[in-house]
Amino acid sequence: MDGNSSDNFDVNLVPDNPYLLLTPGPLSTSKGVRAVMFRDWCTWDDDYNSIVQEIRKELVEIATNRGEYTCVLMQGSGTFSVESAIGTMMPKEGGKLLVLVNGAYGARIVEIAKYLNIPCIVHNSGELDPPDLERLEDTLKNDTNITHVAVVHCETTTGILNPIEDIGRIVKGYEKKFFVDAMSSFGGIPFDVGTLSIDFLVSSANKCIQGVPGFGFIIAKVEEFQKCAGNARSLSLDAYAQWEEMERNRGKWRFTSPTHTVRAFKQALKELRDEGGVNARYNRYKENHKILVEGMESLGFKTVIKKEWQSPIITSFYSPNAEKYDFKKFYALLKSKGFVIYPGKLTAIDAFRIGNIGHIFPEDIKRLLKAIEESIFW
Ligand SMILES: *Cc1c(COP(=O)(O)O)cnc(C)c1O
Repeated sequence: MDGNSSDNFDVNLVPDNPYLLLTPGPLSTSKGVRAVMFRDWCTWDDDYNSIVQEIRKELVEIATNRGEYTCVLMQGSGTFSVESAIGTMMPKEGGKLLVLVNGAYGARIVEIAKYLNIPCIVHNSGELDPPDLERLEDTLKNDTNITHVAVVHCETTTGILNPIEDIGRIVKGYEKKFFVDAMSSFGGIPFDVGTLSIDFLVSSANKCIQGVPGFGFIIAKVEEFQKCAGNARSLSLDAYAQWEEMERNRGKWRFTSPTHTVRAFKQALKELRDEGGVNARYNRYKENHKILVEGMESLGFKTVIKKEWQSPIITSFYSPNAEKYDFKKFYALLKSKGFVIYPGKLTAIDAFRIGNIGHIFPEDIKRLLKAIEESIFW
């Protein structure tokens, strides 16, 4: 039976959002995505499970057209999937993780490893610079106990885009397993997981695929994932057990799944295809980003990250150096004009962030710039 035969969604019934979210997620979604959440689903029924299977298959297709990869979905926000993947991929004995950190999300991987008692070492390159590749190579050469290397692709803390291609080449040169937190880049920046030899990649429903929050997903090399049985330190976050269940029972989750979110995600994937796929979406994000940065610079704002490392996902701007400037007031003014921006997350620099991913178009960014110009009160 076609799971959609009884779906009859009217986008005209979906109210407008009161403001656009120019944040790192959850993001502004389309009315189409919000409309399909109007009905309920039974979690063990084929109608629903076939949606899960389609999603898993399509995510693998987006990830790579090389090699044997699989996908498992996991309840919770993106961090739950990171924790699930780390806790499932690291062997209970004899594993050692090297984490390349240049922001809060890299630091979170380290925190997860600590919670799970996973031996872990950290290379911190500071918040403004990409990982030090020479140091990486040196460490992998000298510390042969390291089994896995983890890095964040787009460090949403600042918007820096880490060079996963160069990092992957070194990691693979020493035959280590490669983990990438591609939460805020997957689906919005083209790259092939197979070409980069990534063993485990994590992202979530509410970032560049433009779904709503509620679950994340792990894309893994089948051969590697098969070795992970029994590793997990947590029942509910056991990605291997979840994968086994989804494989064996064709799309069934072990515990209650976020059904509406999953249905919305299917629609988000359709809209990604309709837009022209990841390349087309990347071009829209790049265009949004270009207009944003040029406009902000002409208003006197300065970006924090060097242009060569800056992602087209989210941008950090230095807070204005003015006595009267106050982020909360600036935020409230913009919100009243229909735009929600984000506070900074750098530890030592006073900044704010503007995201340009989600159902956001160059016209929206132009309207935003006008609103910002009208909101300069300092
Ligand atoms: C959004 C994000 C996460 C996950 O954050 P949640 O709040 O748990 O969804 C992890 N890593 C990166 C790089 C992110 O952008």
